[in-house]
Amino acid sequence: MRAVLVGPPGAGKGTQAQILASELSIPKVSTGDIFRANVSGGTELGKKAKEYMDRGDLVPDEVTNAMVKDRLARDDAAAGFLLDGFPRNVAQAETLGTILADLDTSLDVVLELRVDEEEVVKRLSGRRSCPECGRVYHVEYDPPNAEGRCDNEGAELYQREDDREETIRHRLEVYREQTAPLVEFYAARGLLATIAATGSVEEVTARAKAAIEKAGADS
Ligand code: ADP
Ligand code: AMP
Repeated sequence: MRAVLVGPPGAGKGTQAQILASELSIPKVSTGDIFRANVSGGTELGKKAKEYMDRGDLVPDEVTNAMVKDRLARDDAAAGFLLDGFPRNVAQAETLGTILADLDTSLDVVLELRVDEEEVVKRLSGRRSCPECGRVYHVEYDPPNAEGRCDNEGAELYQREDDREETIRHRLEVYREQTAPLVEFYAARGLLATIAATGSVEEVTARAKAAIEKAGADS
């Protein structure tokens, strides 16, 4: 299964990608996670990405596309992957098509997680993440067993720099202007499956699995 998850920041892409990747035994490839790991590791890539991420802007395509190309060429992605947070504009989507064609493959489905902006702002303002394993929680909707600590690692959870109110608003604008056109782009190619990303995490997972299974059966 080669799938992309599209939706506004806070729609639950990372949450669902983590669950689905583990159930399908394929890697979750999250460009946001890869950038954050590079920022905290102080790498050259992290230095290039940080100022854009702090503002809530997209990191330039040449940096992002090269990173994804390397990641998808690795052995563990040969049997499939779930892309979370990439592509984020039409130019990236076109590059993804070329990267996959060079690997003699193509996408099976693009899953759009649909949720309104008011809900997204609530989700992002309460989001907490584990610095060790990247798992995400919500202080109210999906809290860890022990307050402020990851269930897997016991590490202290942190709040992302870009989950502040003004940056959230800017990221939503970037989504509307640059990423939302992908919905039409993939619909025109017969790859789009849209699901409601409202309700509990489990309800959304059930809808996502049904859409992925249908895409697998159709392709
Ligand atoms: P994205 O990767 O799309 O930015 P996340 O998966 O990080 O979104 O989810 C954003 C926040 O919303 C997190 O705090 C997560 O725990 C919470 N969340 C995810 N799915 C749901 C849901 N179905 N209901 C309520 N909160 C959710
Ligand atoms: P995310 O974890 O998906 O919310 O991404 C966090 C930040 O990483 C974004 O606001 C961007 O600055 C950057 N980023 C992640 N994915 C991409 C991408 N595909 N293209 C450009 N920038 C990205």
